Amino acid sequence: MEPVEALERIAFLLERQGAVPYRVQAFRTAATVIGALPRDELHQRARNGSLGRLKGLGPKTTRVVEEALAGVRPVYLAHLEEEAGGPLVDGEQGQRLRRALRGDCHLHSDWSDGGSPVETMARAARDLGHEWCVLTDHSPRLTVARGLTAERLRRQLSLVAEVNEQLAPFRLLTGIECDILDDGSLDQEPELLEQLDVVVASVHSALRMDEGPMTRRLLAAVRNPLVDVLGHCTGRQITGKPRPESRFDAGEVFAACAEQHTAVEINCRPDRLDPPRRLLRQALAAGCLFAVDSDAHAPGQLDWQIYGCARAEECGVPADRIITTWTERQLATWTGTGRTPRR
Ligand SMILES: [Zn+2]
Ligand SMILES: [Zn+2]
Repeated sequence: MEPVEALERIAFLLERQGAVPYRVQAFRTAATVIGALPRDELHQRARNGSLGRLKGLGPKTTRVVEEALAGVRPVYLAHLEEEAGGPLVDGEQGQRLRRALRGDCHLHSDWSDGGSPVETMARAARDLGHEWCVLTDHSPRLTVARGLTAERLRRQLSLVAEVNEQLAPFRLLTGIECDILDDGSLDQEPELLEQLDVVVASVHSALRMDEGPMTRRLLAAVRNPLVDVLGHCTGRQITGKPRPESRFDAGEVFAACAEQHTAVEINCRPDRLDPPRRLLRQALAAGCLFAVDSDAHAPGQLDWQIYGCARAEECGVPADRIITTWTERQLATWTGTGRTPRR
């Protein structure tokens, strides 16, 4: 195993396990440092024991590199594979649906509050077997998450084009997780949103507003023709510092989603698992489409889609109602015209 591969696999497994970013960062940084080092120098440093003097390498990461170069399986990685490399759910739960997935409509890079570069996220999605995924960094008002101004988002679009040249036939689609402002309007220039392949719209502020205004806020967003997916609709947080569901008239909002061809996101993050099952069933009965999304902020978190697949299966959501099982072409047809693939 190549040293870079070993370091990246460790980082992936830690992220997948939900480790805090600083525990993972050392391995990602070391992978970048080692990856940029000429092959001769790497071997020379391993021979004379000076690897650990490289900026960005510590005792743990140095040992991983030395072991990999010596042709043995790094001990740290072997332990981690055993502890965290197995399936995330028991038995066949969600597996059938997971196998049907072709993409992911919600993930973040280090341009906003994600921890990894765009290309790293796209590669990881590809390596998980996806045909496409959508890059959805945050919008300007979400300053705590370094939301992208219109200018930065325009710059990101050129980067996405470059990444696509490198990773073809895999497709990284352009997108955004756009804040739904208090009055239901969107936190980005409409002309720019128009250019993006997929727009996920989510509430991140004033989550506790009264039911009436919150319903109107969500209705305005899901009826906006620029919006394709309603992100984590209740905003609940179920681990860490719990946050209750926002209150809104789910019947009205889901009816509008079904009518306007706006997909309801099944957010897979273990701290969110949003919507809760009763709302998921309600949205299904209302005739909504769904997007099983990782909302990944690191490559290993892309693997969390299985949690949403398990819940979708449990609630009886058929695969053809899930836009993340569609081909990129079917997705483009739907975002462009509202037409869904023929059953
Ligand atoms: Zn969000
Ligand atoms: Zn997000």
